[in-house]
Amino acid sequence: DHHATVIDGKAIAQTIRSEIALEVATLSEKYSKVPGLAVVIVGCRKDSQSYVNMKRKACAEVGIKSFDINLPEDVPEVELIAKVDELNANPEVHGILVQLPLPKHINEEKILSQISLEKDVDGFHPLNIGKLAMKGRDPLFLPCTPKGCLELLSRSGISIKGKKAVVVGRSNIVGLPVSLLLLKADATVTVVHSRTQDPESYIREADIVIAAAGQPMMIKGSWIKPGAAVIDVGTNAVNDPSRKSGYRLVGDVDFQEACKVAGWITPVPGGVGPLTVAMLLQNTLEGAKRVIGQ
Ligand code: NDP
Repeated sequence: DHHATVIDGKAIAQTIRSEIALEVATLSEKYSKVPGLAVVIVGCRKDSQSYVNMKRKACAEVGIKSFDINLPEDVPEVELIAKVDELNANPEVHGILVQLPLPKHINEEKILSQISLEKDVDGFHPLNIGKLAMKGRDPLFLPCTPKGCLELLSRSGISIKGKKAVVVGRSNIVGLPVSLLLLKADATVTVVHSRTQDPESYIREADIVIAAAGQPMMIKGSWIKPGAAVIDVGTNAVNDPSRKSGYRLVGDVDFQEACKVAGWITPVPGGVGPLTVAMLLQNTLEGAKRVIGQ
C-alpha cells in the first residue's frame, strides 16, 4: 500500500532553530549585540495570546531578545501608531510584529504601513508585498508562513521550477504571498478561492498543492494527483468530545485519504505551524545582521 512521505515540520523547524541559535551566538560574541523582536498585541484574543506566547518562547530558545507590548482592546489608533514609531526608533529592536487581526476601530493597512521596512519581519508592509509581486525585485522580508511552505518543499528535496502549483486561498497573509513566491520560484501557479467553480478540477492537475482556505478537510484524497506534494496550511479546530479540550486541529486536506495518493504531505498540527515561527526568527536574525556590525 502506498503511503506518502509525511513531512516532519517540527523536526525541520528544530533544525532551523539550531542554525539560528548558532548565528545568534556568533553575533553576540563578535559584537556583544543580540537580535531583538518586538511583538505587539492589541486586546486579549485567546488565539493571538497563544501564538504570541509561542513566538516569545521560540525567541528565548535561540537567544533573540523579545519585547512584549500589550495594548488594551480599546487603544486609540494614534497610540498604536506612536508605539510603532517608538519601536521603529529603538536600535535594540530589529523586527516588529503586530499580531493580526486588529480590533475593528484600527485601520490595519495604516498600521502595517507604519512599520519601518527594515523591521517588517512579517513581510506585510505593502512595499514588501509589492516587491514580492514584481519581477527582478526582492523584498527585504518574505512573509513567514509562505516562506515556511517553500522551506518545507526545499528541505524535502521537492523542486518547484516548471511544476504546476495550485494554491487554495488568496488571503493577504498566506494564499496571495505564497502564490507570488511560487511564481518567483518558476512554478506555473493557479489560485483557487471561494468563487472558483469546480476547485477539484484544478487541484487534480497540481504537482504541488498549498491548502490555505481554512475549511476543515475540504480537499479529498481523490482530488490529489498521485505523487503530488501537499502542504496543508489550514489549522481548523473541530469538535472532538474524546479530547479533554473538547476539540482537535485538522487541516484543509483529508490527511488519511490523501496519504494514500500524495508523494509528500504535511500533518496538522506539526507541519507548517512550526515553520511559521522558525521563519519569524530567521527574518529577525536577517534584519539584525543587516544593521549589527555595519
Ligand atoms: P482567510 O479566511 O483570510 O482566507 C481564506 C481563503 O480561502 C480566502 O481567500 C477564501 O476565498 C478561500 N476559501 C474559503 N473557502 C474556500 C473554499 N471552499 N474553496 C476555495 N477557497 C476557499 O484565512 P487565512 O489565509 O488567514 O488562513 C487560512 C488557513 O490557514 C486557516 O485555517 C488558518 O488558521 C491557517 N493559518 C495557518 C498558519 C500557520 O502558521 N500554520 C498561519 C496563518 C493561517 P475568498 O478570498 O474568495 O474569500
